[in-house]
Amino acid sequence: MKILDFHFHVGTKEHWNPWVIEFFSKVNPFYIKNFSEEITPEDILKYLDSQGVRKAVILSEYAPRTTGVVTNEFVSNFCSKSERLIPFGSIDFSSRYTPSQQLEYVILELGMKGLKLLPSYSYFYPNDPALFTMYEKAQELKIPILFHTGTSIFKGSRIKYSNPLFLDDVADTFPELNIILAHGGRSFWYKEANWMLLRHKNVYIDISGIPQRQLLTHFPKIETFSDRFIFGSDWPGISDIKPMIEKLMDTGISKDTLKKILWENGNRLLSLS
Ligand SMILES: [Zn+2]
Repeated sequence: MKILDFHFHVGTKEHWNPWVIEFFSKVNPFYIKNFSEEITPEDILKYLDSQGVRKAVILSEYAPRTTGVVTNEFVSNFCSKSERLIPFGSIDFSSRYTPSQQLEYVILELGMKGLKLLPSYSYFYPNDPALFTMYEKAQELKIPILFHTGTSIFKGSRIKYSNPLFLDDVADTFPELNIILAHGGRSFWYKEANWMLLRHKNVYIDISGIPQRQLLTHFPKIETFSDRFIFGSDWPGISDIKPMIEKLMDTGISKDTLKKILWENGNRLLSLS
C-alpha cells in the first residue's frame, strides 16, 4: 500500500525551543541522534524509505513562544530537492505583511501546496474576522489549510484557541475551502470534530496524534466518511512511522478505507496522484 504522510516536521535545535527538543529526546532518540544538529532532504528521504513512506507533507511553523520557528523559506528550500516532499507554508503573525499577503507569497512565489496554522501555539482564534480575506484567497487558490486542533503539552500553548468548533464559522463561510483538523480535536473535542465532519463537506481529519487503537472508538463513522480521514505521523513527535501504520492496519478498518486514508485522500486534497 502506498503511503502519504500528511503531517511531518523538519527542523533542528536551531528551530525548536529547548523544551521541544527535550520532548523529542524522550519520544524519539533516533531523531536526536541523527537529525537534531543537521537535517537534510537526502537523509529524510532515506528515513521515509525505511518507513515505507512514499511522500510527506512538510510543515512550516511560526510559534516562537511555544514550539519555535521553521520558516517558509527553509521548508520550501528543503522540499525543492524532491517531489516526494510537499511543502506547506505558515503565517507569521509578527510580520508587517498581512496574512493574505503572506499566503500569496507562500503559494504563488514559493510554490508551496497548502498552509498549516497553529491557533494554540500562535495565539489566535481561527474565526477571527481579520483572517477572512486570507481564507477567501486560499479558497480561490484551492489551497487546503491544516489547523492544529486539540490539546498540546508544550510550554506556552494556549489550548482555548484549538477547539474545532471555531472552524464552524470558517467552514460555513468558505464552503469550497478544504479544512483539515489535525489530531481531530484530541482528546476532549472528538465529539466536536465528529460534528464538524457531519455538518461540513469541506472538513477533513488528520489522524496524527490519535492512538490508532482508539480511532474507531472516537470516530465510529470512519467508514461512512472514508473520503475525509487522512494519515499523518507528526514525526519527530513519535518514534517511528512504520509501527503506526501497522497498528492502523490492525484496527479492523476496511482495506478500501485504509487505502483512502493512507494515500488517496491526501493526494486528492493536494491535486496530486
Ligand atoms: Zn505536528
